[in-house]
Amino acid sequence: MSAFRELEVDLDALTANVERMRVHVGTPHVMAVVKANAYGHGAVASARAALAGGADWLGVADLTEALQLRDAGIDAPVLAWLHDPDEDFRLAADAGVDVGISSLAQLEVAADAARTVAPLAVHIKVETGLSRNGVAEEEWDAVFTRAHELEEEGVIRVRGIFSHLSNASDDDDRAAIAVFERGLARAAAAGVEPELRHIAASAAAIALPESRYDLVRLGLSIYGLSPYGAESGRSLGLRPVMTVRGRVAAVRRVPAGKGVSYDYTYRTERETTLALVPLGYAEGIPRSASNVAPVAIAGRPFTISGRVAMDQFVVDVGDLEVAVGDEVVLFGDPATGVPSAYDWADACGTISWEIVTRLDGRVRRTFRGGR
Ligand SMILES: *Cc1c(COP(=O)(O)O)cnc(C)c1O
Repeated sequence: MSAFRELEVDLDALTANVERMRVHVGTPHVMAVVKANAYGHGAVASARAALAGGADWLGVADLTEALQLRDAGIDAPVLAWLHDPDEDFRLAADAGVDVGISSLAQLEVAADAARTVAPLAVHIKVETGLSRNGVAEEEWDAVFTRAHELEEEGVIRVRGIFSHLSNASDDDDRAAIAVFERGLARAAAAGVEPELRHIAASAAAIALPESRYDLVRLGLSIYGLSPYGAESGRSLGLRPVMTVRGRVAAVRRVPAGKGVSYDYTYRTERETTLALVPLGYAEGIPRSASNVAPVAIAGRPFTISGRVAMDQFVVDVGDLEVAVGDEVVLFGDPATGVPSAYDWADACGTISWEIVTRLDGRVRRTFRGGR
């Protein structure tokens, strides 16, 4: 029996997705991106499942996330790339976490930390078009030259050079890759020869072979979702890892014309049955799911009726016999006949990344499988 509010994570599916993606990309290295609590799937368990599938790197946004993996006993290589301006890189050096470097100032801070603790491996991020972090082209020579000096001093090792793509279009991504190539050449001219060059996340890893280099950083795809939607996910053999369920908390029979939930944005057209589902925006159900997002009850498709509230939403199930305690699936693996995170993203005007990542709150996270 499922829990009142349940988020089930199929760790075997996650492991299998990594295996599928490894075969598809064929790169020497694969980084499983487990930032933001592994896109809502649970960072530590997901990291272990990804490593079991052959990922040999873990990627996170910030150092706190990296240290959480280390504290759980995970000793695989980890890269953290988005830092608090006052970040203490001594923690990274101490824990053997690689850090992304996006400026000369950050490089010096990393070197100072390394001198007091232990040599630190860095991946220099070059800006190639996304306009986020990354060393600007005008500063490449200064950063690469200094990095090489610090390598000679023995405090810093430039293990990687990386960037990130916009996915604006194939042409934009190819233009960014051309800038990246220029960056690699300038690094080499300064004597910096990293073993890992990486620029592709799931989208480019799947569709743009020239972006793959030595390592791809896979987030969405290892959670069983393709950036290109359901059909692409199926053809890649990806299986959605997250299933979200709730149990019907109340059932009522109502006449035609009855207003449902806040603001009465839904009114019954005829006598019907309403089922109350105990998940709301506190759990990360988008309020924009009101009146549009699909659910499955007893294997049948329905749509949320009326506004999603903080703790709950209502579904008009017509004449379906529904009882308190029955299971409602919000989304999961569409191969099992339930709605998908893609369906939810389409209904809510967002992307599947956001749908899975925001699911949290009072849901009980349960794990299936795992080695
Ligand atoms: C989040 C992130 C990824 C993973 O992206 P997906 O599209 O989920 O595969 C890769 N690289 C960086 C720098 C990221 O921030």
